[in-house]
Amino acid sequence: MVTCNETHAVIIALQKKCFASKDIAARKIGAELLEKTQRKYFTKTPSKITKPVCFIVTALGVTAGVHRLWSHRSYRAKLPLRVFLAASNSMSFQNDIYEWARDHRVHHKFSETDADPHNATRGFFFAHIGWQLVRKHRDVIEKGKKLDVTDLLADPVVQFQRKYYKTTVLIMCFLVPTVVPWYFWGETLWNSYFLASILRYTWLVNSAAHMYGNRPYDQNISPRENRWVTFGAIGEGFHNFHHTFPFDYSVSEFGLRFNPTTCFINLMCWMGLASNRKKASVEIIQARKLRTGGGSYGAVNTRQEAET
Ligand SMILES: [Zn+2]
Ligand SMILES: [Zn+2]
Repeated sequence: MVTCNETHAVIIALQKKCFASKDIAARKIGAELLEKTQRKYFTKTPSKITKPVCFIVTALGVTAGVHRLWSHRSYRAKLPLRVFLAASNSMSFQNDIYEWARDHRVHHKFSETDADPHNATRGFFFAHIGWQLVRKHRDVIEKGKKLDVTDLLADPVVQFQRKYYKTTVLIMCFLVPTVVPWYFWGETLWNSYFLASILRYTWLVNSAAHMYGNRPYDQNISPRENRWVTFGAIGEGFHNFHHTFPFDYSVSEFGLRFNPTTCFINLMCWMGLASNRKKASVEIIQARKLRTGGGSYGAVNTRQEAET
């Protein structure tokens, strides 16, 4: 069996041959060989399927789970769906459901103040990942204590995940995604670890979606509509809409458009595992756009423009 180090050596030798040759045909053959070798040893066929599946499941644990269900209660979910979403949430490794949802409620209530856990006025890095690396501002803790979280305390799935959070992260975020591809289809451990465990995109909602984009629903708040975040965070980039209508299960005016999380929740309703989806009516949305949106829909309305 060829080891990972031997494969590395083969690829490096091919690269050298490929780039050193003056003969164009030889360089082409070298490049093709290089590509084939990389394909053979660096990504097995099942991994090409499990990689996007893992990404979507992980993202759903955040978007459909701790965000739309537990933070905002924008729909109801039965026990099997809550267990699936809790496991997916552990896979995402972004704090346990109770802490995430409580912090997120604080984020909505005290956006862009010291009580906002990922206060975007402290810069992109802080809002994106820095807030996870430093101690919380005391206002976050104090205001968080005053919020009503009785629904979270009453949910046994939330309490179980909180109690065994470290163990569930170890299993769902590291062991399962690393060991399964290695054991079942011979993926290298290194590859499995990187393909499934490392890639994280949903944090962009806290940073980019509070800085870049337009504000068609409410000009007076910082969150913006950001299409790149929508792609990276499977439907969570309609952030001006979301902060204006936080109860809406679709977090968007446009329903299924660019919104895989909404498709997933609809599918769960169809399967009888979810119900009671809350939605802002067209009339309410239009009235709000006219009142506070300032007719900016479709226009790029950056923070700089708003301030000048
Ligand atoms: Zn939210
Ligand atoms: Zn936000």
